[in-house]
Amino acid sequence: MKGELRITTARVDHPRSFTLEVATQHGAYSALRKALKEYKPDEVMEVVKKSGLRGRGGAGFFAGMKWGFVPKNIPKPRYVVCNADEGEPGTFKDRIILERDPHLLIEGILLAAYAVESHQAYIYIRGEYALPIQRVSEAVEEAYRAGYLGKNILGSGFDCDLGVYAGAGAYICGEETGLLDSLEGKRGHPRLKPPFPAVVGLYGGPTVINNVETLSTIPAIVEKGADWFASTGVNNSTGSRIFGVSGHVKKPGLYEIEMGKVTYRELIYDYCGGIRNDRKLKAVIPGGASTSFLTEDELDVPMDFDSIQKAGSMMGSSAVTVLDETTCIVHAALILSRFFAHESCGQCTPCREGTHWIYGIMERFEKGGAKKEDIDLLEDICSQMGGGRTICALADGAINPILSSIHKFRDEYEAHVEKGCPYGGKLCEVPW
Ligand code: SF4
Repeated sequence: MKGELRITTARVDHPRSFTLEVATQHGAYSALRKALKEYKPDEVMEVVKKSGLRGRGGAGFFAGMKWGFVPKNIPKPRYVVCNADEGEPGTFKDRIILERDPHLLIEGILLAAYAVESHQAYIYIRGEYALPIQRVSEAVEEAYRAGYLGKNILGSGFDCDLGVYAGAGAYICGEETGLLDSLEGKRGHPRLKPPFPAVVGLYGGPTVINNVETLSTIPAIVEKGADWFASTGVNNSTGSRIFGVSGHVKKPGLYEIEMGKVTYRELIYDYCGGIRNDRKLKAVIPGGASTSFLTEDELDVPMDFDSIQKAGSMMGSSAVTVLDETTCIVHAALILSRFFAHESCGQCTPCREGTHWIYGIMERFEKGGAKKEDIDLLEDICSQMGGGRTICALADGAINPILSSIHKFRDEYEAHVEKGCPYGGKLCEVPW
């Protein structure tokens, strides 16, 4: 298939790919072996910097640059933390790595730890991910027994321990500093930044936090070289992404695709077989619940960081939710607003109050009683929430689906004024 490039999902189809035996038969830990034998820590960091690898969690920050901010000449311990708190609605891409190839992730974590000279790493997994927690925990035990973790790894003199920590189901613990607080045993509240975690992170020590897919990409980069990785994808978006497609398509699922080589339309029609029951497509959420809706005529956009941003949305967590013509957009936005109101941690007034105000108004549109001025009121509330007024990006994420749905489907909001949903729920066939 055009654009398919399997880097992080290369092993997942092998039976029992999650075991050390099968994973090593297919190359697991060879990049670690190579790095420990041939490279100094700084050289591993240089390889990752040169590769152009960007974070796969949502923000898209350059991974090597993030590592480069970690100060080395201070007495505090340095940490590597893997963010496996995959909680963005519609997102299920990290899950396949955690369930089917946990040794790839462990190898990536070890390479990151080696690069920043850290001897303690953690994987923070969302609590609802029972099977991934089990598979990762078993893989960590296997890796210890085989000498890939612990003291003097593979006889190199490099030591690194790895702990597995299960979250308790709060979306906000996927925000990296909320995650750190949670890992420290506190309530998961995002921290004011600066200082950033690379300088003051876990227990006050310098900390690298990367997403599962990001860390799982590193073994291939070390194995095949920065030039190879930089030659894939497109400028500023090197490598592949795992796109998790859900919603009204014939073949939902995970597709690992070279960035910039396939458009959202090609993903939906060529990879996913088009829209179920051959209906018309109405809208797409291209990168998880925090990203703006795209309409049917905005889909000829290559799937890379810059192209989707130019189109007015974000690549986010590469969770692509497809909505067909039977979907009520106001209903979809209502469900998203309820999620954000529920998940706001409450520290910042614009977010704590704003998300609940939005949800209350959206309910009026759905159930009846909304006035035409409420559309402007929604826009006004959103204008007071975003743009850096809050500690973390949840508030910005909460307003994206609301504003984009108003801008692109204002007629649907107007159709809901006073009487509520004109479709009587009939156009909301799939419960969100
Ligand atoms: Fe909490 Fe919202 Fe403020 Fe983030 S923006 S810290 S979720 S109140």
